Amino acid sequence: MKIICIGRNYTDHISELQNEKPEDPVIFLKPDTSILLKNQPFFIPDFSDQVHYEVEVLVKIKKVGKHIQEKFAYKYYDQIGLGIDFTARDLQQKLKEKALPWEKAKAFDGAAVIGEKWLSIDEVSDINMLNFRLEKNGETVQKGDTGMMLWKIDELIAYVSQFFTLKIGDIIFTGTPSGVGRVMPEDKLTGFIEDKQIFSIQIK
Ligand code: ZN
Repeated sequence: MKIICIGRNYTDHISELQNEKPEDPVIFLKPDTSILLKNQPFFIPDFSDQVHYEVEVLVKIKKVGKHIQEKFAYKYYDQIGLGIDFTARDLQQKLKEKALPWEKAKAFDGAAVIGEKWLSIDEVSDINMLNFRLEKNGETVQKGDTGMMLWKIDELIAYVSQFFTLKIGDIIFTGTPSGVGRVMPEDKLTGFIEDKQIFSIQIK
């Protein structure tokens, strides 16, 4: 399986990082080795002093597809989840300055948190009006609403499937809202969609 990540999909996060609003979605990949193993803590890697959390809504692909039209995109998923796109911000900044790819900052082992709990589409009233949030040590640090996405889930599926064949089990990370921040050892991160807890992880 592969993980396809969308960057800069919320205007407030774009201004937070002083990025330009892109004409097309920014896409990058994470390998399956970046998935944080179930019930394991996240260990801050020693190549970064500034690992940031980015809470993101996830979509799990259930059908093989290429060149999917937006109007048919809904047929390719029926589960919505939540995860964290861990980012070594200091490293990413250096790579960005040199216009180099971001993999070292985004695709390292453990950099993809995939919440254990998935919600079926029938459980949510409208995927384009979903509230989600991240708590750090019990305090809300990021709050989002899928209604604030620059590119909606179906548009993203249409867009990314122009480049990559989507396969069963692939996961799309749909981008983060504002409020990204640094993690420190002993932090606890808990993610929610609406009032449902989707994941809880310990930082070491
Ligand atoms: Zn992200």
